Amino acid sequence: HPSSCGNETIFGKILSGHIPADILYEDNDCIAFRDVDPVAPTHFLVIPRKYISQLSLAVKEDSKLLGHLLYVAKETAKKEGLDKGYRIVINNGVEGGQSVYHLHIHVIGGCQLSWPPT
Ligand code: 5GP
Repeated sequence: HPSSCGNETIFGKILSGHIPADILYEDNDCIAFRDVDPVAPTHFLVIPRKYISQLSLAVKEDSKLLGHLLYVAKETAKKEGLDKGYRIVINNGVEGGQSVYHLHIHVIGGCQLSWPPT
């Protein structure tokens, strides 16, 4: 839930090393790791170390961090060999289908994706 503390989400536990994840990239500001329940051959998430529950609650001071997450998403997609394309998604809030309330960027690829999503 949006009001929960960062370290209480499953991603907080991944950040603190309390539960394992298949980490693809990490730096001082973010980590990228494979989604445990992939919707495509390649599916990973990029999350900030800073606790931001969801995109709509990011503040102006987060804008550089948000840009960095997107940059890491595209660099990690390249390292993963997604040279034919991929999709980036942020589910925001209840009607956006967000289930983990620690901001994350989905990167999905490795097959032909359809649009619009169903
Ligand atoms: P959301 O629905 O909030 O946009 O996406 C949450 C994503 O986190 C889902 O794709 C789900 O499969 C993934 N996820 C949930 N729990 C875990 C976990 O413990 N480890 C990993 N690697 N991914 C998780």
